[in-house]
Amino acid sequence: MPKNSKLKIFLACSEYTPLAKTGGLADVSAALSFFFDSEGHDIRVLIPFYASIDLAGLEIEIVPGLQELTMTLGDRVFNYWIVRARSEGPGPDIYLLQCPELYGGDEIYSGPDEHLRFILLSRAAIEMCQQQAFAPDIFHCHDWHTALVPVYLKTLYSWDRMFSATKSVLTLHNIGYQGVFGASVLDDMGLSDSGGELDQEDLSHDRINFLKTGVIHADLLTTVSPTYAREILDPEYGMGLESYLSQRVESVVGILNGVDYAEWNPESDPLIPFTFSSRELSEKEKNKQALMEEMGLEYVFDRPLAGVVTRLTYQKGIDLMQHVLPDLLAARDLAVVVLGSGEEEYEQFFQWLQSEFPGRVGFYQGFNNQLAHRIEAGSDLFLMPSRYEPCGLNQMYSLRYGTVPVVRATGGLADSVQHFDPGSGLGTGVVFHDYDANGLRWALNTALDLYSNKNAWCRMVSNGMAKDYSWNEQGKIYIERFKRLIDS
Ligand code: ADP
Repeated sequence: MPKNSKLKIFLACSEYTPLAKTGGLADVSAALSFFFDSEGHDIRVLIPFYASIDLAGLEIEIVPGLQELTMTLGDRVFNYWIVRARSEGPGPDIYLLQCPELYGGDEIYSGPDEHLRFILLSRAAIEMCQQQAFAPDIFHCHDWHTALVPVYLKTLYSWDRMFSATKSVLTLHNIGYQGVFGASVLDDMGLSDSGGELDQEDLSHDRINFLKTGVIHADLLTTVSPTYAREILDPEYGMGLESYLSQRVESVVGILNGVDYAEWNPESDPLIPFTFSSRELSEKEKNKQALMEEMGLEYVFDRPLAGVVTRLTYQKGIDLMQHVLPDLLAARDLAVVVLGSGEEEYEQFFQWLQSEFPGRVGFYQGFNNQLAHRIEAGSDLFLMPSRYEPCGLNQMYSLRYGTVPVVRATGGLADSVQHFDPGSGLGTGVVFHDYDANGLRWALNTALDLYSNKNAWCRMVSNGMAKDYSWNEQGKIYIERFKRLIDS
């Protein structure tokens, strides 16, 4: 395929920033499709029309041929329709799949109809292509929610010659979530006659694994960092998929996520009180002061502030913080601000920590994008001691905001943060290796010691701010891989 030729890409996903977001998946699907669009590729995006989507600034258009549609899933018939959402400025065409019965609730995930929500998304994506006579070169699927598209193209829709040259790509953002259901959903999937395409061992144990099905059938598997691409071949990180991935090792490619610097740029960020660049770090200090006031913390000049913005889950290393933070806060002058929600045990821990260290620990329980920006801008350190981290975005946001990441060397954290060496002045953060309390304790103490060495600290901060993880480079790797796949 000629180097400059343009591709037809269909991207189906459960999340898309800013319409529907619970984590990094939303940022990546949006930034990647913007990149494809900006490069002149014909990209169409389909996401569910969740009741929670904020329509402000969007113009909703009826699309001929995509109204009054029905889909039979098992013994239920769903009425659905698809509209186009346009916003001002550049960007790809976003299509919203409306089916109030499935997407009318408050939640994006969970609930008894969860599998139906994403079976419908996957099949409606394929049928939308048919309705619009759009034969994609690439069907780009993301995580378990749309991981059934590859098997559908090979079974239910294999009769349609329109897809004969279509290649399917499944991007694994996090294999900790696989979409595992009882085998009774086979009927709902419409694959009762194609059970042979599914993993037989799973079926014999009365289960169906959506992500595994995608891993078996997609033409290309990508994941979101080179290190994670290697890690998931091992049982420790493979979450049961390691042998399936190892069998396809030639088709597993790690491409580090990029950052949308239009949204995450301290020089122009409208969500922070004081914009700043690496030449105006006094403005960063003002953000710190404002953030500490907002969070009810006592501002003391030269007291380092560590930020955390995360889903409070097993993956994120919160148990290490439980082991380390109470003693560290008792022993050293440090303040901590935490934004997140998730498992109750972790929420309770941060509530307790806040009450134990009033004025030095602030916890905001919930999801708050504005506060996430202000924490990036106002903190000195950013903690990500993850057990595993496919890519992670916050450490890359932190680098740009002059906030030193303290990370465990796993997945994309290992690929985007280099441990600082005061001797050579090289490096952008503090990196520890073993997943244990000693590792995190050492890393935090190292970071706090560096904080009191102003020359070293400034050097590390400016090294980080100079890093460029924009989508320009990463997006090109996707296109190159897509073209190689089409030519194969
Ligand atoms: P993951 O996708 O595993 O949650 P990432 O670091 O890749 O982790 O991406 C997380 C994204 O979600 C970032 O954009 C981060 O700012 C955002 N985020 C996570 N938790 C919250 C929260 N409680 N409030 C606001 N934004 C959050």
